[in-house]
Parts: sequence; C-alpha cells; structure tokens
Amino acid sequence: MKLDADAIVVGAGLAGLAATAELTDAGRTVILVDQEPEQSLGGQAFWSFGGLFFVDSPEQRLMGIHDSTELALQDWMGTAAFDREEDKWPRRWAEAYVDFASGEKREWLHGLGMRWVPIVGWAERGGYGAIGHGNSVPRFHVTWGTGPGVVEPFERRVREAADRGLVRFAFRHRVDEITASGGTVDGVRGAILAPSEVERGRPSSRDVAGDFEFHAQAVLVTSGGIGANHDLVRKNWPERMGKPPKYMITGVPAHVDGRMLAIAEHAGASLINRDRMWHYVEGIHNWNPIWPGHGIRILPGPSSMWFDAVGNRLPVPLFPGFDTLGTLEHIMRTGHEHTWFVLNQRIIKREFALSGSEQNPDLTHRDLRTVAARATSRSQAPGPVEAFKQHGVDFVVSRDLAELVRGMNAITETPMLDFAQIEREVLARDREVENPYSKDMQMVAVRGARLYRGDRLLRTAKPHRLLDPGAGPLIAVRLNILTRKTLGGLETDLSARVLGANGEPVPGLYAAGEVAGFGGGGMHGYRSLEGTFLGGCMFSGRAAGRAAAARKRPRVPERAEPRGKAFDGRLRKGSRRRAEGEEATLSTKPVTADRPYLSALHDSGSAAVMRASPAGASARATQTAGSLA
Ligand SMILES: Cc1cc2nc3c(=O)[nH]c(=O)nc-3n(C[C@H](O)[C@H](O)[C@H](O)COP(=O)(O)OP(=O)(O)OC[C@H]3O[C@@H](n4cnc5c(N)ncnc54)[C@H](O)[C@@H]3O)c2cc1C
Repeated sequence: MKLDADAIVVGAGLAGLAATAELTDAGRTVILVDQEPEQSLGGQAFWSFGGLFFVDSPEQRLMGIHDSTELALQDWMGTAAFDREEDKWPRRWAEAYVDFASGEKREWLHGLGMRWVPIVGWAERGGYGAIGHGNSVPRFHVTWGTGPGVVEPFERRVREAADRGLVRFAFRHRVDEITASGGTVDGVRGAILAPSEVERGRPSSRDVAGDFEFHAQAVLVTSGGIGANHDLVRKNWPERMGKPPKYMITGVPAHVDGRMLAIAEHAGASLINRDRMWHYVEGIHNWNPIWPGHGIRILPGPSSMWFDAVGNRLPVPLFPGFDTLGTLEHIMRTGHEHTWFVLNQRIIKREFALSGSEQNPDLTHRDLRTVAARATSRSQAPGPVEAFKQHGVDFVVSRDLAELVRGMNAITETPMLDFAQIEREVLARDREVENPYSKDMQMVAVRGARLYRGDRLLRTAKPHRLLDPGAGPLIAVRLNILTRKTLGGLETDLSARVLGANGEPVPGLYAAGEVAGFGGGGMHGYRSLEGTFLGGCMFSGRAAGRAAAARKRPRVPERAEPRGKAFDGRLRKGSRRRAEGEEATLSTKPVTADRPYLSALHDSGSAAVMRASPAGASARATQTAGSLA
C-alpha cells in the first residue's frame, strides 16, 4: 500500500498542532486533517482564556506564593479522587503531568515565546480539608494574549514545517472511519465537505462534496471532546448526578461533536471514564453569540451570594469558584437547574471575569493600558462585563432589593423566589460584615482570600454590606449549566498509544488532547484544578507526536525522490531513516531526526483518492452517524 505521509493527525486544535510540530521536528511528514475550514485552525484553544497550571513558577513566587510538587500532587490526587480499575493510566498521566507542570513546562513554553500575566489566579479553592478537592494556592496563569497567544507558537511551528514541505493541510476533510490492515491502523477515510467561508467559530456546513482516503503508518486522533453534542453529554451523564439537565447552554463551538470517539472505538480503541465531564454552573447566555447556544462562563471571585432557584443559599463550601462539580451535584439534587448570584456593582467590578479570548480583548490584544484600567477603574467593570450587564438576558439590575427580586422572578418561567427569604439572608450576611471574625464561612473565606496579594489587588472586593447604597446598584445573575470539557476518553499509555480492550496498544493508533481525556483516558479523574486542559493538550500532543515519530518506518529504497504535489516542498536531500523502536516519550528532550526523512512513499496518489462522489460519501457518513446513536 502506498503511504501518503508518515502520519495523519485528525484534528487541528492545540493537541493536533503540538503533535504535528513534534512529528515534523523529527523530520516526519504529516497530513493534518480537520473538518473545519482553515480559519478555525487552533480549535477551542483559540477561544480559551489561556489559563495555565504551573507549580512553583516565578509569577507565584513574585506574588508571595509558596508552592511545591508535593503540594500540587496532594491537591491533584485529592481532586481527581481516582477510584476505578481503569484509572491505572490516568493516574500515571496525572503524576507525569504534575511533574511536567512543576518542571519543564514553563521553560519550554517560555522558550516558544509565551508569557503570562504576573498576577496568578486562584481557581477551584476547594474547602473540604487538606486532602480534599481544590488548589491550596493560586496556580492559574493567564497567558499574555489569552487563547490566541497559546495557539500562536504551535501554529507557527506547523506553518514553518508546511513551508519546508513536511505538512499538508486537509481542511474540510471529515474523518468517518479509521482504516486498518492486518490488525494495524493504516489510515483514515471520510467525506470532503464543501468549502466554507464562515467566520472562525461559527458552525460550518456539513454538505458533502466528495470523499477521501489517506494512508500512513501512524494515525493520531486529536479531535476534542463532546461538549457541543448535548445528546452525547446526556447519554453519558454520570448516574451519581441524577438525571441529566433538560436545559444546557454550550461553552464550545459546534465542531466539538465527539464523533471521533465512536469512530476510534470502532477501530478497536478502549474508551474509559465516559461519565466524567467538566461542566460549569456559572453559565450565562451570550448576548452576542458566535456558535449555537453560545454560553459564557463567569470566573467568579468569592463574594457573591449564591442562591438556588427557590432562594436557598448554597451550602458551605459551595461559594463562587470553590468546587465546580460539587456545586453541579448539589444543584442537580435541588430539582431545578438554574441558580442565582446576588451581588452589587462593587463586587462585579472587582470579581467578575468572563472566560474566553473574545471576552478579554485587552489581554488578547496585549493592550497594557486597558489591562491597567481593570485595576484602577473606580466604578466600571471591564467593558465586556458591563455589556453583559446591559444586554444579557440573565442580568437584573436595581437599586432596591424588592425590585431586584421582582425582576428575578420576571425572567424565569415560574416565579419561585420569596422576597422575605432573600431579604432575611442578605440582611443577616450584612450583619456578619461588621466584625473582622464571623460564623458565616463565606465571609471567613473572603477574608482568607484577601490575605493573598493577587486577590486583594484584583479579584476580591473588600468586605462591605451588600445593601450599602454606595456600593450599588444591586445585581442578580441567573446562572445556567454550561457544557465544556470531557474528562474521560480514549485510553492511552504514556506514549499516547491507544490501548484496546485487551490493554495492549492498537498498532499505529495514537491519541492526545481532550479526546484522550488529556492523557490516559482521563488524567483529571473526577474534577480539575483548572488551567490544566490546554497544558494537557500540549503535553499529550507532544508525547503522541514524539512516539509516532519514533515509530519504525517500513523499508524504503534509499535516495528516493518524492513525486506529485503531496509533499513537493524543499526537503533536504540525502536524509537517513530513523528507525527507533517505540518508547515512552514523556522525556524532556525533543526528538530530532538525524535529517528530515524523504519518503519514497509520498505520492500524488493521495490526491487521486479524493474522488468526487457525494453519494458514496454521504452514505458512509450516514452509516457512521448511525453507529453513534
Ligand atoms: C471558551 C473556552 C475557554 C477555555 N479556557 C481554558 C483555559 O483557560 N485553560 C484551559 O486549560 N483550558 C481552557 N479551555 C479548554 C481547552 O481550550 C480545550 O480543552 C482544548 O483546547 C481542546 O483542544 P483539542 O486539541 O483536544 O481539541 P479541539 O480544540 O476541540 O480540536 C479538535 C479539532 O478536531 C477536529 N475534528 C473533530 N472531529 C473530526 C473529524 N471527524 N474529522 C476531522 N476533524 C475533526 C475539530 O474540527 C477541531 O478542529 C477553554 C475552552 C473554551 C471553549
């Protein structure tokens, strides 16, 4: 069989870019396949906030934070709560990842040109005790340039490799099947989708214009999770959380459809921890949506009062930003799916951040002046937050508590809130502010947060009465369940080789990023410490790229020349083959080829198999979709 490249990478998100960059650094040729058009290169990572989990970083030390690998591992294990037989590889990935985040991660990314905002954020604060869930210290490092700043260095490496003739992009190619011969994965086939000019992030058409088939000795699946596919989210909803929500908003673009999970399973992959997911409870409808059902997550500071749909305050320690999944579990037990933040202008100004690159234009465009205004503005929240306050359907603003509650009741199908109950809670909470000590654990937590310089500066308002007229107006925000991340996935070993049901690698098949549960089939276990997803994509993508690059090549004649257009680039001549066996590739040294590999197997044949036969393609697409149902 003629090979079209050394490797096929399915998915041009962050994990796929990281894998492709490693493969091409080793001189390997890659076809990078994506169902979306070129303008969506980078996938979800482009839209991300760019928050990264580092341990004992210079930024942390500058903020007076003492962190260590031991503390981070304690936090990770308390958060993951691994308790299943299939957690063998996820646990090993978790250990390797904490080690990476404590060691070479920052230096590696710094070397690629990335930089971080010096004030470190404190996500998932826990609240259950030292061995329970949560970050003991702040570890969320926002990338200067947010998501696009994370994609940039990897895209640059891949485009440079494309200029050298090592990468061929196959946009609008949707993989419907992983092919194999003699038990070894040898390629992919699928539908060529009609060209699309849609803006980045908007849903592109699924009109089929032809079909294709590519062959290579390694297939790397980096196709993302299931967050935009509510049917799959509901189908895999964890039993421990009761019935799946009837209503959810969507935190990811439509391409996060989860189809490749079933396609990989069909090719022999083992899919584990499918009931582990990471959805947010502070979702608001985007008044200016990009993708269908587009929701935005509020990254909250700790001061807002949090009520369930009928006006009960959420129990300790379910304060804003403390325990995402614990809060979700609690909400699902209440019998209603939405909850409320009640706060005021002073709190929103200081404590509301919105997740997403487009919601943080100052950081995304590296605009120092506007960033500085976040800290210095006397009354206004950042522009995008004020825009939500003005246009968002989930926001109610009033100077009067009774009117606020009337407004809250007016935007739900049935009025469920009793003013007297809300007033009683708010007045009681305000009485607790008078003393520097308190029995209200949220007040204690707020004061604890302000011991941290970063929170005091930017993220936690000075304790004050909610009903203080000088801190108004009052604001209520209806919070919805927002789908986002897939924590389970394709089971992989430390070389990112996909394992089959028998625990042995499926020859030729690799996986990385969200589709692989960010490594192992779920390195987060049940919960996340946050900022761990982008890093998980880069780490597992790199491992997959290195392992696939180290795969033995089939024997080929020396001094062969490439033919056709597939890789007509400026490959250096006289290359010698690398023929290492596969090995664990979490090592810190980049795999570099002796010289770029000039494959005799590159052939314009790949172009020839791109036949225009819509009927056949759509028949297959229908068949695959059927198998997912
Ligand atoms: C708004 C937002 C904010 C976020 N903020 C953070 C943050 O601050 N920190 C953090 O760590 N994480 C964050 N994340 C999560 C993180 O961005 C994602 O988990 C990560 O980018 C996933 O990358 P991936 O490469 O695995 O998948 P994706 O980015 O989903 O890329 C997968 C690609 O595969 C393609 N594909 C899928 N199926 C097929 C097929 N059958 N054929 C061909 N192509 C296919 C898709 O079109 C897509 O381009 C955020 C995510 C969002 C959406």
